[in-house]
Amino acid sequence: MSEEFEAPRAPTGTHDVLPPESSRWQSLLVLFATLAERWGFGMVHTPMFEDLRVFHRGMGEGSEVVGKEMYEFEDRGGRRLALRPEGTASIVRAFVQHRPTTPWRAWYATPSFRYERPQAGRYRQHHQVGVEALGSDDPDVDVEVITLAQEFFHGLGLSQFTLSVNSMGCSTCRPAYLDALRSHLEPQVASLCPEHQERFALNPLRVLDCKKDACLDTTAEAPMLLGALCEDCRTHHARVLDGLNARGVAWVANERLVRGFDYYTRTTFEFASSALEGAQNAIGGGGRYDGLVEQLGGPATPGIGFGIGIERALLACDAEGVFAASPPVPVAFVVDVTGGVAARDLVASLRSMGLFVERAYDGRSMKAQFKAADRSGAPLALLIGADELAAGSVTIRALREQRDQVTKPLGELLNGIEQTGEIQW
Ligand SMILES: [Zn+2]
Ligand SMILES: [Zn+2]
Repeated sequence: MSEEFEAPRAPTGTHDVLPPESSRWQSLLVLFATLAERWGFGMVHTPMFEDLRVFHRGMGEGSEVVGKEMYEFEDRGGRRLALRPEGTASIVRAFVQHRPTTPWRAWYATPSFRYERPQAGRYRQHHQVGVEALGSDDPDVDVEVITLAQEFFHGLGLSQFTLSVNSMGCSTCRPAYLDALRSHLEPQVASLCPEHQERFALNPLRVLDCKKDACLDTTAEAPMLLGALCEDCRTHHARVLDGLNARGVAWVANERLVRGFDYYTRTTFEFASSALEGAQNAIGGGGRYDGLVEQLGGPATPGIGFGIGIERALLACDAEGVFAASPPVPVAFVVDVTGGVAARDLVASLRSMGLFVERAYDGRSMKAQFKAADRSGAPLALLIGADELAAGSVTIRALREQRDQVTKPLGELLNGIEQTGEIQW
């Protein structure tokens, strides 16, 4: 007596991407790769798991992700490892390890893993595309990186989104600002949201970014970083905004847009879709991290990048009714009622000439083969019956329009394709 085996399902918080939906993923990746290449970024592929310290130092011990959401494990050799929760730290680790000449521009497409409570649009394995530009603190690089993200969203067909921009200052101006923020908030810690009462000391900047009323009210009169920038940071920020204006990139200033660690500096930005629900409307974001390479053991090297969530971007596309799935359609379906050898060889010839064609298998009836041809969406059937097989010909039949079928020698059909790339009839 065998016990009944319950077929396993994809783990909680993960999802499969299958055709036809996967055709959008493919188009999205091609679009991103094309743009990234045009902007001078080369593809970088790093391991999906890293030494745990890469993320502890790369994202900061105090970040929510590192604290609560990371997939950490010990391998069979006793190494402390973690699945990648985001893209930047791994790329910077690779930069430090290989020391390529700068400026160095990398793009990536990768799954990311976070142990989150599963809900709509949030996955334990989600996917990101992104770029990192290392080796220059020129504000024009910031503009290029932001413009690339915007071009990508436009390329998807999105138009209902806003870009928020802020500056985080630098190691010259931020410490004094943090002192001022701490002294302002310290007497009111009890009125912050429960999470930030706990985390305030570790990471006071994050309080500004909190969407809860308690924190919003408490920080209403708080000093903002933009007003406390040093001369260099002010100049840098102004040049970034000037560059965005020159490129026709619409932006709004958001003084509360912060990233919470010392190695995040100056420019920070976020794209939010106005077609999506408020709490889940961020479709991409990033910023400058002039201290991160050093943090991960490399030489002082400025850098800036962004990450875009593929699932979230596609939700925004759905909400705007753009970038629908368009799976490829075969140009012809080969119907062979003589046993399949003719179909085997004709399909191989046509594919070697660059055509997407399909056929049926398992020696099915003519009726079943034409049904499959219809389902495939192909506009033409290439029919091989006993007469065609004997004569070395093929019959071309339209499947989606009224038109008399044509029988022609196989050699003539193949010659025509060779010369024009299409089935001539
Ligand atoms: Zn500064
Ligand atoms: Zn809060």
